[in-house]
Amino acid sequence: MGVRTGVLDLQGDVSEHIDAFRRALAGSGLSEGSEVITVRRADQIPSCDALVIPGGESTTISRLIDKNGMRRPLEEFRGGIFATCAGLILLSKGVPDPRVKPLGLLDIDVERNAFGRQKDSFEADLAIKGLDAPFHAVFIRAPVISRIGKGVEVLAEVDGAPVAVRQGKHLGLCFHPELSGDTRLHRMFLHKITS
Ligand code: GLN
Repeated sequence: MGVRTGVLDLQGDVSEHIDAFRRALAGSGLSEGSEVITVRRADQIPSCDALVIPGGESTTISRLIDKNGMRRPLEEFRGGIFATCAGLILLSKGVPDPRVKPLGLLDIDVERNAFGRQKDSFEADLAIKGLDAPFHAVFIRAPVISRIGKGVEVLAEVDGAPVAVRQGKHLGLCFHPELSGDTRLHRMFLHKITS
């Protein structure tokens, strides 16, 4: 079975996600009939099995979602969403910043730019539930998850704070797996949406 993965191409590190998903598919049993596309128009959304909301600037992505008429199709999307950093902020329920209108698809609240405030960016080797060995995670002005809803599973933590969460088919990460050359989380996500 092929998987059509759409990377939301409004702002942020789009090409890195396209490369990472193409590499993840090449190493899986799913490569036949699968494709990774950029999503620039609202009408492309329902045709995808999976969507990626990349890292970038959540205030900008939020504004462009509305400008491009994508809010409704995103809220009604039935596939899985792979959301990193700014993408995680957009997928959440609550963000105490009026410039971001989150989609509310993950039952979490977040606080922008609150992780590792003292040094902005950092890297850490994380134990992630479902992966056999540590994952090298790159954090860049990352959000803190300040509330976890009942249906949300925590897959990894840093100093007791959740940094990787799953709810149904959606995977939300405070860090950037597309930057570390390791596609295990992409494959874990693809496996979940096809099983
Ligand atoms: N600080 C950014 C925001 O709040 C997210 C950073 C990122 O995606 N690396 O939008």
